[in-house]
Parts: sequence; C-alpha cells; structure tokens
Amino acid sequence: MNLISNEALLPFDFILFGGTGDLSIRKLIPSLYFRHSEKQLPEDGRIIATGRTAMDSIGFRQSLDVQVREHIGEQDFDQLTWDSFLQRIHYYPVDVTDPAGYQPLVDALAGREEHVRVFYLSVAPNLFTPIARGVHEAGLITEHSRVALEKPLGRDRQSAEEINDSLSAVFDEGQIYRIDHYLGKETVQNLLALRFGNAFFEPLWRSERISDIQITVAESLGVEGRGAFYDQTGALREMVQNHMLQLMVILAMEPPVSIDPDAVRDEKIKVLRALKPLKGIEAIENSVRGQYRAGAFSNGPVPGYLDNEDIPNDSTTETFVALRAEIASWRWEGVPFFLRTGKRMESKTTEIVINFKKVPHSIFPTADGFSTPNQLIIRLQPEESIRMRIYVKAWGDDIQLQPVYLNLDFNDVFQKRRMIAYERLLLDLIRGNQTLFMRRDEVAAAWAWIDPIRAAWEQYQYTPKNYTAGTWGPGAANALISKDGLRWNED
Ligand code: NAP
Repeated sequence: MNLISNEALLPFDFILFGGTGDLSIRKLIPSLYFRHSEKQLPEDGRIIATGRTAMDSIGFRQSLDVQVREHIGEQDFDQLTWDSFLQRIHYYPVDVTDPAGYQPLVDALAGREEHVRVFYLSVAPNLFTPIARGVHEAGLITEHSRVALEKPLGRDRQSAEEINDSLSAVFDEGQIYRIDHYLGKETVQNLLALRFGNAFFEPLWRSERISDIQITVAESLGVEGRGAFYDQTGALREMVQNHMLQLMVILAMEPPVSIDPDAVRDEKIKVLRALKPLKGIEAIENSVRGQYRAGAFSNGPVPGYLDNEDIPNDSTTETFVALRAEIASWRWEGVPFFLRTGKRMESKTTEIVINFKKVPHSIFPTADGFSTPNQLIIRLQPEESIRMRIYVKAWGDDIQLQPVYLNLDFNDVFQKRRMIAYERLLLDLIRGNQTLFMRRDEVAAAWAWIDPIRAAWEQYQYTPKNYTAGTWGPGAANALISKDGLRWNED
C-alpha cells in the first residue's frame, strides 16, 4: 500500500512562523534536515523562518547550530550535510500582529508566485487569525499556497469554529492542513496497513469477535515549565480531543474506498459522528479525572502538580483522564472503547490493546483458565511493535495451554532510523497530500463529543481524584473498567 506518494517535490518556500520556538527547534527543523539529508528536498526549496527576535539569517543559522544538533542526534549528524542544509534557511523578524510587519516576507517571496508556498503556523493559536489576515492583506496567498496549523485548534467547538472561519475567509479548505502529529507516526499509518492490507483481520474486526479495545497514552513527564499553558488545557483537551480520538477512529472506521484524502476522512468522520454522546450523569459515570500528587520514579522523587510555581494551588485541572466510549454502529455495538491518558504515570507508554473474545467452548485446560483472551497489542511508544497473544500447547506430556506472544519489533524488521512523525507530514504538506491531516468537519465533530463531557464535569462539580506520581492513575480508573469485568493491560 502506498500511503504516501514518492513523487518528487516541486520547488517551494516553507514559511515557518514561530521559527525560534520550541517545536521548530526540537522537531520541525530536524525533520527538514533529515529530508534534506535523504535528498528529498529540491535544490530550490527554501525555509524562511520568522519570529519576533531581532537577528539576520546568519545569526539565526548560528543559533540553530547551537540548539538543533542535540535533537538530530550525534549518530545522524553530518557536518557537511548540515552546512548545505543551512544554506536553505533564511530568517526575517516579523511581528505577526503588525500588518506592516509582513514587508520582509513580501520582498523575500516576490517573483516566486509559481512555487509551492507553505505557511506553517508554529505559534500560539491566538496568532492563527492575525497571521491568516496578515498574509492575505500582504497579498502573499497564491493558488499554490497552503497553510498548516499546529494543535490545539481551539478550546471547544465554538473557538475551533472561529479559528476555522478566519482561515476559511482567506484559504480554501483544500489549502488548510490541520496537524495532528500522531498521524505522522509510522505505527499509526501501520494501523491502516494492518487493517486494510491484510485479509485475515477484517472478519475478526467487529463486535462478534472483539470484546473491548483499550488505548493508553501514558507520559512519565509532568508539566514542569509548561504549567501555565497546561493548566488552561488539561488532559481531555490536550490528548483526548485530538490524538486519542484519531487513534480510535482509525481503529474503528470502515474500509475506505481508496487511500485518497477524502475517502479516508469521509470514513473517519462517520465514526466520530457515531460516538455515543456522553452527557450529564452518563459522562460522570463513564469518565475519571485525576491529578498527580508528589511521588517517585526510579531516579528519585518528583513534585506534585500543585507544587509547580506557575499553577494555582487550588487548580482543578485534570492531568489524567479515563473514558469509556461506545460507537453506535453495526460493527461496534456493545464493544467498549477505554481511553486513558495521563502525566507522571508509571512509564512512557502509548499502546492499543485489542482484546478478543474467549473461545465459545474450551476443550483444553489452561495455565490461566483463559482468563485473558487473545490480544493484539500495538505499541507506539517507547518502541514501535505489534504483538499477538495466542495460546499454544506447553511442551510436556500434559495437554496444557499456555499464552505466548508473537512479536513484531519494527526496529528489527526495518533496521533503520525511525522517522520523526513530522518528517512525513512536512513532505505531504509540500506535496499537497491531505490524507494525514484533519478536515474541518472532523475537528468540529471531535469537539462536539468532548464539550458535553467538560460541561458535565462542571455541572456535577466533578473535581479530579488524586493519584501518586509514578503510578497508573487513580484507583477509580480501575473501577471504571472493572464494571465491564475487565482490567487495564499493564503487562
Ligand atoms: P514557543 O516555544 O512559545 O514559540 C512561540 C513562537 O512564536 C516563537 O518563535 C515566538 O517568536 C513566536 N511568536 C510569538 N509571538 C509572536 C508575534 N507576535 N509575532 C511573531 N512571532 C511570534 O511555542 P512552541 O512550543 O514552539 O509551540 C508552537 C505551537 O505548536 C503552539 O500552537 C503549540 O501549542 C504547538 N505545539 C507545540 C508542541 C511542542 O512540543 N512544543 C507540540 C505540539 C504542538 P520569538 O520567540 O522570537 O518571540
């Protein structure tokens, strides 16, 4: 399956708003470096970075020299390649809130109207609208232009719609690329390959055979340094509305007729619209909020959420959320989807667990009494792997079944550097392939499901339950899943 075309890139100008920011330094510039080192960027492809910081292109390149190397990694850094890459990079100070501030970009882009032109908005969301207006009024939007938006796209459905309206006033939907970098991860694309490139999963991929699906996105880090931002956001908005719902819809969607952007996104949106709403008391019964307290990891103690200086000591923002969701469709009726995400959890783990139903009638004794069924475990972090748990007869003279794992470790199979998720997304952006980006209606549908959960938390004054840093979250999350006679996969 060819998810991404290999077609050569046309000459382009990649205008990076927020070029001095954290995301650019850690992910975007390294991603472009790797694509340059793989010779995928055409010679006439320029990266035009902007920020408020006053400096010229030479000063910016020097600052990249100091900051970016560690994010590329010593083993992948090549000085000659880096020097040639830097020649692509230009820098102009631009205050995006000042309509007159765009003149340096007007000058830099003059005469290049036929080239692909990407505006990448790696800035706070409150600058999306001023930039859309600014590039429009400066006459910078051509028919070959595209705009990419970082998450979060709004705080709720209404604010997302307002941002989308301001973008739509100057760009066509076909020019707007809403980033969810999870969609750039190899394993997420492999979900599509696994489901729709192999015939044998499809007959099993339904409520007759699957008992439940669990998605865990656990981080071991806390919010240090980002507390002020995080406290306004919380785990539901930061992780569930985008990454986790994206994983869920890719797992649950019907086979699209092709890999074309709209064919895939048409199927994804059907799942979002089929999510059973969680409103009022149902939202309370099917959700758990948590907030971490001081705890310890193997390398020492860590402070609690409220111990951070930039967080009010009466904050009720959740750093953990668990949800039980259902999809109202023929395929998924009665199959609970459990989503769980949190900060300062026991380990950094992102995984999807598909639990299959038990055999209808067991003729074998087993070591574990078939207590845990067959499982497909798709791990995205820390390493990418797919494991299948099956029963075999244990060697010996008894007929005794024992669960074992078939393991597929992507590092062993491909033995090459794992791409940063953004590498793929940035190339697609330049190529003009929207398959791995979110459409406006998808974003709206995701918020439409999330907003009532928040509303119920407010209505019922549901404050987060405490959990100790370094654990798997509050005990209430175990109670949530055990109501279905299940438990979280924590092997
Ligand atoms: P950041 O480190 O705070 O950087 C913000 C950037 O915006 C800086 O380059 C800053 O330039 C520029 N900027 C601020 N005000 C400006 C203005 N008036 N005119 C022009 N430029 C201005 O933020 P970040 O962490 O890189 O995040 C950027 C975006 O990506 C945000 O929407 C964030 O939510 C999203 N995101 C970030 C991450 C991450 O890991 N960092 C992950 C996912 C999504 P100066 O510093 O030169 O003033």
